[in-house]
This record gives sequence, structure tokens and C-alpha cells, in this order.
Amino acid sequence: MKTLLPTSTAGSLPKPLWLAQPETLWSPWKLQNEELIAGKQDALRLSLDDQLRAGIDIVSDGEQTRQHFVTTFIEHLNGVDFEKREVVKIRNRYDASVPTVVGAVERQKPVFVDDARYLRQLTKQPIKWALPGPMTMIDTLYDAHYKSREKLAWEFAKILNQEAKELEAAGVDIIQFDEPAFNVFFDEVNDWGIAALERAVEGLKCETAVHICYGYGIKANTDWKKTLGSEWRQYEEAFPKLQQSTIDIISLECHNSRVPMDLLELIRGKKVMVGAIDVATSAIETAEEVADTLRKALQFVEADKLYPSTNCGMAPLSRQVAAGKLNALSAGTDIIRRELLA
Ligand SMILES: [Zn+2]
Repeated sequence: MKTLLPTSTAGSLPKPLWLAQPETLWSPWKLQNEELIAGKQDALRLSLDDQLRAGIDIVSDGEQTRQHFVTTFIEHLNGVDFEKREVVKIRNRYDASVPTVVGAVERQKPVFVDDARYLRQLTKQPIKWALPGPMTMIDTLYDAHYKSREKLAWEFAKILNQEAKELEAAGVDIIQFDEPAFNVFFDEVNDWGIAALERAVEGLKCETAVHICYGYGIKANTDWKKTLGSEWRQYEEAFPKLQQSTIDIISLECHNSRVPMDLLELIRGKKVMVGAIDVATSAIETAEEVADTLRKALQFVEADKLYPSTNCGMAPLSRQVAAGKLNALSAGTDIIRRELLA
């Protein structure tokens, strides 16, 4: 990519009012059948338009066709019973009623490939596609079949690899795996989590990314953050192995967080999507605030490897706020581009 400091978002953007209940996670659709299919495509176009107008360089579908970044992918697989639900603790943080793995998991047909083709034909900009990571997928399910987190993660990694290869063939430039669970289950991350992620990217020629964050700005996450103390050193656990991994880009939460920026030293050499927009507040950053975070990151990330981004997805925010934040991301990045070129 030739653009200096190419901007992108972590993934999700708010949906239009007519498509889904705003400012809600797992928001129910307001349309049905054919109308829903057409509505999702229209929303994808609007979301792309919002990104292009804001000057975002690496664009995405804004996850407009998904109800949730993990569940929608799993809904398309065999072996998971969505009627049979159990309450589990997600990322050791909050209780949720989740579907049950009742048999071998498999993907019968592509999940997002048609959507990716649709996005590809709408723009010449580089496109990034987000998929859930294997460890985050297993953490959102009750497993009554494999009875092994590692085994189930491995099966999901193989399925994700099939999907990723077809996304690549559809013209996706960067495939990103969302692994917020990497910030929680440190022993498993190092024992098999990163290996499962590498299985998911096996044989891909496009760029690959992993997104690790402190979650959407929902109450369960903001309450959890309050328990983490004055320095958030969670990234320290996975970084050494990630630095050695085959993943090209690491997407991180860096703005308004208590992550010490010098932890980025541990992944020196990797490309880093630096979160410079806080998704847990509706306050819109100033360009200077964004620039300040990027400047700090530049002490540890070479300029040609720094990709300004958002801390996490913006699905739960209002569209107006999300649009303001996209503009702030571009404006803040422009300040640093000028500084670097001066
Ligand atoms: Zn995130």
C-alpha cells in the first residue's frame, strides 16, 4: 500500500434506523425476507459511502449484513443448535445465553463471500474483511460435543481458512480475525490460540490481521476495564508469540486506554493498526487528540507500518457520532502525514 498512514476502522459501523434498532448489540432486524436482503445491501453501500466521504483509505462493509460479529458467522455452520441454549460467561466477564455445539461443526457454503464480492465491485479502494477468530468463537458457545476448547477452536480455524480463501479470491485485500479473547485467556493464547489463528490464515496470499481490544463500549466491558488498574498490560502476554507469528498486521486499542504504548516495542517489525478513536464514548475526538495518540505510537512503530484505526467496532454508537469519529480519524492522520513529510 503506497498511502502513508492508511486509515481504516476496526470493523463494524452503525446500521441505518430502518434496518435495525440503533445503538444496540445483537439488534433485531426491522425487515424480513427479500426486503431484508435488499436492505442489507443498501446499508452496505451507505456504510461504504460514509467511509469514502470521511477519506478512509482501507474500507469495509461496516458489518452491515451481520447481527453480531461472532454469532452471524456461526449461524451459517452445521453442528450448532441455536434453539438449545445455555448460559455461559463470555470472556470471564458477563453472562449470556449462547447456542450449543451438538455435533461436528462444518461450513456447507460460503458465509460472507457474496457480500465481499458486492463490496469489491463498488470500490477500487483496498478492502478489509473481518471474521471472528477461533478462540473468540468458542468463547461464545456451549460445547456439548468436542468437550475441548482447543479441539473446537481447531475445527473453527479450518472452517475460517476455507472462508478466508474464498474472500481472498473475491478480491479482499486484508482479512482480519477478531480475537478479543486474546486479552483474557493468556495461557490458552500461548498454548494453542495463536497456532489456531495461524491455521486460519494458512496458505493465504492477501494480508492478514488480528484485532485484539477491550471490547465494545457496553457496560459489561466498561465495568471490567475499571477492575484492570492503572496500567493495562494484557497485550504483553500474547505479543511475543504474535511477533513471531505469520500474521501481518496487529490491530490494537490505544486511544484513551491505559495500555502503556511502550508495549508496542514487543511487536516491532509487524504492521500495527493503532486504535486512535475511543468507541466507548460518544464524545468525538479532536484531530489533535488523534494525532497525539499516533505520535506516541510512532515511537515504537515505523511510519510505513502504522495504520491509524479505531479502538474497536462502532456498531453500538449513533451514526452521527460514528461519522464524526471517522472524520476525526482522517483529520488527525493528516496532521501526522504533514509532520512526517515536512
Ligand atoms: Zn474490538
